Amino acid sequence: MIPAADPAFRAQLDGLELIDHPVQLRLRSRDFYWYSPILKAELDGKAADLIVVPRTVDEVVRVAAACARFGVPLVVRGGATGNYGQMVPLQGGVLLDMARLDRTLWIERGRGRFEAGVRLGDADVLCQKQGWELRMFPSTRRQATVGGYVCGGAAGVGSIRYGQLRDAGSVLALKVVTCEPAPRLIELRGADIGKALHAYGTTSIVVEVELALAPAYPWVEMVAAFDDFAAAAHFAQALGESDGIFLKLDSLMAWPLPRYFRGLEEGTLPEGRHVVMIMVAAGNAATVRDLVRGRGGTVTLERRYVEDRAITPLYEYTWNHTTLQALKVDKTVTYLQTIFPLGANVEALIASHEMFGDEVMAHAEFQRRQGRTNCSSLQVVRYSDEARLWEIVRGMETLGIRLSNPHSYILEDKGARVLSADLQLAFKREADPQGLLNPGKMSRWTAA
Ligand SMILES: Cc1cc2nc3c(=O)[nH]c(=O)nc-3n(C[C@H](O)[C@H](O)[C@H](O)COP(=O)(O)OP(=O)(O)OC[C@H]3O[C@@H](n4cnc5c(N)ncnc54)[C@H](O)[C@@H]3O)c2cc1C
Repeated sequence: MIPAADPAFRAQLDGLELIDHPVQLRLRSRDFYWYSPILKAELDGKAADLIVVPRTVDEVVRVAAACARFGVPLVVRGGATGNYGQMVPLQGGVLLDMARLDRTLWIERGRGRFEAGVRLGDADVLCQKQGWELRMFPSTRRQATVGGYVCGGAAGVGSIRYGQLRDAGSVLALKVVTCEPAPRLIELRGADIGKALHAYGTTSIVVEVELALAPAYPWVEMVAAFDDFAAAAHFAQALGESDGIFLKLDSLMAWPLPRYFRGLEEGTLPEGRHVVMIMVAAGNAATVRDLVRGRGGTVTLERRYVEDRAITPLYEYTWNHTTLQALKVDKTVTYLQTIFPLGANVEALIASHEMFGDEVMAHAEFQRRQGRTNCSSLQVVRYSDEARLWEIVRGMETLGIRLSNPHSYILEDKGARVLSADLQLAFKREADPQGLLNPGKMSRWTAA
């Protein structure tokens, strides 16, 4: 009998919301790993044995205790919008669905505290009512949760001004539950946040997240089109470096990527032109218009940003939505995820565009990294086979562009994102001594 089906184990969960319908188990055990043909082959069919939907932190503690006592694997599910199968249970067991742990605890001057299952879009709207907003969010904000973002995400819309999620000061505190027969509740602050941040839930279960907030601004969405890729790339960098312009989004897409985009006003994406998608504080929109003109581009869209379900916001064409928009039209494409050399990113971007042409459609997200304007890239690739994909990666490496491998669910394969590997391994030994949390994702644990 699988441990999760053991009546004695089930008895420990009496009164909690449980789901064990096979269709639900299969559907809810998936994220967006299917972007990758490699992960699709590896992960299709993997599923939890039981879903538990806790409503309180006490219920989370009960589930963690039961799993630890019976040796049952436990994987946490936020909005299931991860790209690499981070929340796909590799060894069955319990999937802890955080959807109902969704209370906003408080919002005050520049800080907000949320239960882990609060959706980021909802958190942002609540903050805005009090004159604040999230510093950054992933383009999946409508589905993704606060807990899933800090455990699986990295950056996003807002990173051009506020940097990365892992930058000190972005996340102020995490409350976590350990996976032990008598689970502990621990408040992580300062450098200790790294014990759980971007750890894919392998070290503990995050139940509360305290985030730094930004003052709310009225935003304008803009698209600028350029005939020449190099001109577009230099413009995007110059825009990101313009300290007087308050930005939220600075995304570059090479033609023919815009050909895949549906739902924008007529004339926004002119045939054959490379585009930069921008969100700028309303007071700076005129300055951006001047900068576009000065660099030989044309503003093809300018509209007030409103969060309205009937309108696709510009950010849903950017970050990893760019790949999704392409996949909606052409199921044969896949993607890469790369990091650019600081100070030489624009040159590397232009050189890679010239090296691969339309086979690797350039897409760069400009953002602050280590205090400077840089970009990372989610290039959309016309996929032929795995051998060619790695050949492209090697070609990129000759230009100083490094892979943050999106075709792997292993935590340590994400390169520069894994800053706290030693800290996380040590914390896992203490907080999850049986290795039940999201087993198979932390390779250092498996090796140890
Ligand atoms: C179209 C698209 C666009 C995207 N754009 C961005 C982007 O702009 N920036 C970005 O960083 N990412 C992006 N992503 C990836 C992903 O959407 C985000 O990282 C998102 O924040 C994940 O949140 P989630 O609630 O969906 O987490 P999930 O996918 O449910 O979980 C992510 C990981 O965290 C773990 N986890 C979730 N909740 C908890 C918890 N409470 N405690 C412990 N572990 C937990 C899961 O087990 C899993 O390992 C994108 C993905 C897609 C498909």
